[in-house]
Parts: sequence; C-alpha cells; structure tokens
Amino acid sequence: MKTSASVVLLTSVLLGLFACARSAPVDAALRANGDSPPKAEAPPEAPPAFNANRAMQYVKEIVAFGPRPMGSANHKKVENYILTHLKRDTVEQDDFEVDTSEGKFPVHNIIAKLPGTRDGIVVIASHYDTNWPLRNTSYVGANDGASSSAAVLEIANQLRGKPRNGYSVWLLWDDAEESMRLPWFDPESLYGVRHLAQKWQDDGTLKKIKAFILLDMIGDADLNIDRDHNSTSWLEDMVYQAATKLGYQSHFFARDNEVGDDHAPFMQRGVPCADLIDLDYGYNNVFWHTPQDTVDKLSPKSLEIVGTVTLETLRLLDQK
Ligand SMILES: [Zn+2]
Repeated sequence: MKTSASVVLLTSVLLGLFACARSAPVDAALRANGDSPPKAEAPPEAPPAFNANRAMQYVKEIVAFGPRPMGSANHKKVENYILTHLKRDTVEQDDFEVDTSEGKFPVHNIIAKLPGTRDGIVVIASHYDTNWPLRNTSYVGANDGASSSAAVLEIANQLRGKPRNGYSVWLLWDDAEESMRLPWFDPESLYGVRHLAQKWQDDGTLKKIKAFILLDMIGDADLNIDRDHNSTSWLEDMVYQAATKLGYQSHFFARDNEVGDDHAPFMQRGVPCADLIDLDYGYNNVFWHTPQDTVDKLSPKSLEIVGTVTLETLRLLDQK
C-alpha cells in the first residue's frame, strides 16, 4: 500500500465524536431478588472468540516459506497452504494472468464463502503476496501480508460450521497487491483486487456487498491502527464502536492517514470500506518493506485485538 505524506491531526475532535459505546449490563440485583430484568435489556454478549496463538502460528508458517512474490514457487506454496485450511469451505478461485513491465505472471485470488441468512455480503480481506522488487532479499512480510492473512484464516475458523444469523461473509486472500516497483507505482499494483472489483461489478455481486473490511499490517506489537480517510466514515465509526465495546479503543484512530490499499477499487465503485492498517511499523515506519519485517516485531495480542474487533464489527453490521 502507499500513504500520503500529509497526516491530518484531527485526533481529539474525532475521538470526541466517536466515543459513544453502547453498554447493556444486566441488573444482577434484580435477578438475585427473582425479578426479571427490564425487557429492553439484552443479556450481555460474550466478546468474539479468536485464538491468537493459533493465528500467530499461521504467521510463522507463512513466513517460513520465504519471500512469496507472484509467480514464485514459494507463492504457490502459500496458495496451497491457504487452500488446505479451507477444505471444509466453499471456495472460489479467481485466477488470471497479468502482463507487467517485469513479465507475465499468474494471479490467484482465493475466496471462502460462508453463507448467512440475510441478503448481502460482508467481505473481509487480506493480501498474501510479497513485493517483487524485494524478491532477492530475505524479505518475508511478516507484518505486511502474513499477519493479516493469518488473522483471516483464524476468522474462518471462528465462523466455520456455525449458522450465521446475518450477512454472508466472504473471506478474501487477494494476490498481487504489492507494487512491481518501489516506491509505489499505481499502474502496476493492486492487480488482484482490481480484477475482482471489476468482475464483481460485471456479474452483479458488487451491489450485494454491504461492507469491505481490509486487514493490513495488523501484527505490530505496538499496535496503532490509523484512521484512514480513504475509507468510509460510517464503517470506520462502527469499527471504533466495536473496539470501544471490547475495551481496545486505545489502539484505534489516534492517528489520521490517507492510505492507498486493496480497498481502493471497491471504494471507487461505491462499496463501504474500512482499511484497518497500522502504518507506523517501527520508529517512522522503518521496518515497512524491508527485510526487518520479521515475526519478532509482532504480538499475538495485536492479532487478537484486530481479529476480535473485526468480528465485533461484523456483529454490529448484522444488527444494523
Ligand atoms: Zn506492502
């Protein structure tokens, strides 16, 4: 992804606007007396489950394959790795070829479809490729690509096999997100999502998508998710509401940013999007797109925070 140089410092204003969590405690005293709680009070919901250690293990297994630029043998191994975890799911593979200044490459988007009872789709996405320009270094993208791909695999574990009383959820591992050149080069990046957004526009899927939630660089042990001004405000507000409900709001939106990322082709087509990204990875983002992007910089807790906030946002979307 790329980021604009101008960071708008609206933090305090935004926090003031969005700090409005709902809480519905059950009156324990009433219960103790044998009285029913007031009808309007719903029982408190347990926070969404998310196995952070298992997600962290996925991160380690993905990076163990080594650099995974498109067209490489390692890339193929990661594709197979993701597919192996989705054996019980309905999976669509969106395969095509791109012609770039570096040659022709196969591109493979992977979509796991979990059916719901409500008409509409929520997409939760992560790219899984690493950068072509860094292919001959030790760059493994532990945070950039692996952390979010692992989190979406764990989200699949949590949603699989349970009846969904809400929207269908499509989990997307998109390919060829990274730019063919560094610094970022728009015409040769986001190949997977650009293809998919066009395909879903052509076949009518796009208008069924109620929300597109993108996870990117979410494993940093020092987790500070940016408020992305290239995302949809109401959906970002809902993410903040979910984070507040879980007590994780201090990790969200203390910093404002404008991020060009996998959500761009969907934003352009009017799909509500939220990019959950922490673009301050090491002092001054120094580990980003370098061989220093390794597992030791990450924390399972960060995966859990973003994973559960994503699942809580899904719950709020289902109730909307
Ligand atoms: Zn990247």
